[in-house]
Amino acid sequence: MSTAPAVVVDGLTKRYGDRIAVDGVSFEIERGETFALLGPNGAGKSTTVEMLEGFRTPTSGRARVLGVDPRTGDRAWRSRIGVVLQSSGQAGMLTVREILTHFARVFPRARDVDETIAAVGLGEHARRRVGKLSGGQQRRVDVALGIIGRPEVLFLDEPTTGFDPQARRQFWELIRAVAADGTTILLTTHYLDEAEQLADRAGIIAGGRLLALDSVDRIGGAEARTPIVRWADASGHHEVRTLEPAAVVRALAGEPRELEIVRPSLEDVYLELLAAAPPGDGTEPDRRGARSQVEEVAA
Ligand code: ADP
Repeated sequence: MSTAPAVVVDGLTKRYGDRIAVDGVSFEIERGETFALLGPNGAGKSTTVEMLEGFRTPTSGRARVLGVDPRTGDRAWRSRIGVVLQSSGQAGMLTVREILTHFARVFPRARDVDETIAAVGLGEHARRRVGKLSGGQQRRVDVALGIIGRPEVLFLDEPTTGFDPQARRQFWELIRAVAADGTTILLTTHYLDEAEQLADRAGIIAGGRLLALDSVDRIGGAEARTPIVRWADASGHHEVRTLEPAAVVRALAGEPRELEIVRPSLEDVYLELLAAAPPGDGTEPDRRGARSQVEEVAA
């Protein structure tokens, strides 16, 4: 197997009229890596992913998936890619097994249908009509359809939007198993904990621009992740950013109130980056979106 990156994006740009949806985005995804594209609604995540899937044509820039320009990808290339779109319009009258059996025929190296159904946790529902399943179960069918062809690269667009917390955790287990199989995964999400749980690296995108790109625990730079010591005493509340929090704590007199050491989370870094981002086209709604979404996650 080639050691070239699974995905290469270089200066990728998409305009709709005078509106710029994706603005010169560049990143690479190594084989076997799970990469998260993070950003508020309208940031340009889906547009980026859909250009990589060959569903939208870039205005400029370069994209390669498994070494192929998605615009020219043929059937053989497409059989090596798995796609889980944001919303699926599956044939609700078919049973889980019927729809998977149908899709499995299309792929030269398809997985075993029943094994795939079991892998996504739908073993007990194999004979049920897809239309009768819960939203979370239907999403599992989407993922089963995405992986049935044993893809080398799997695109997952906002896979857990609308899930309850338990369903999300189960879904994460499933994605981890797919990743452990060696599948390269590009995940878009506005859930920061999802990226922290699943991704090796992440890119933060807003207003079509990539604001940061790094491993999930380093994104934003060392400065942004410097621990913070907070405490209160007779003179009020105090806060110190330091690489030696234990030393700061040792130097405190007596037993200070409300003592805590916090390491800024991905969410803190994300909000700081978005707040500092220069406004791009349509960033006003984007930024409001980011805050309300994060509050939603925290709630
Ligand atoms: P995200 O997936 O991050 O929510 P999208 O990629 O869907 O963001 O959208 C990025 C921007 O491009 C948004 O401002 C959106 O309104 C705009 N956009 C997306 N698709 C179209 C389209 N077909 N025509 C015009 N504008 C579009």
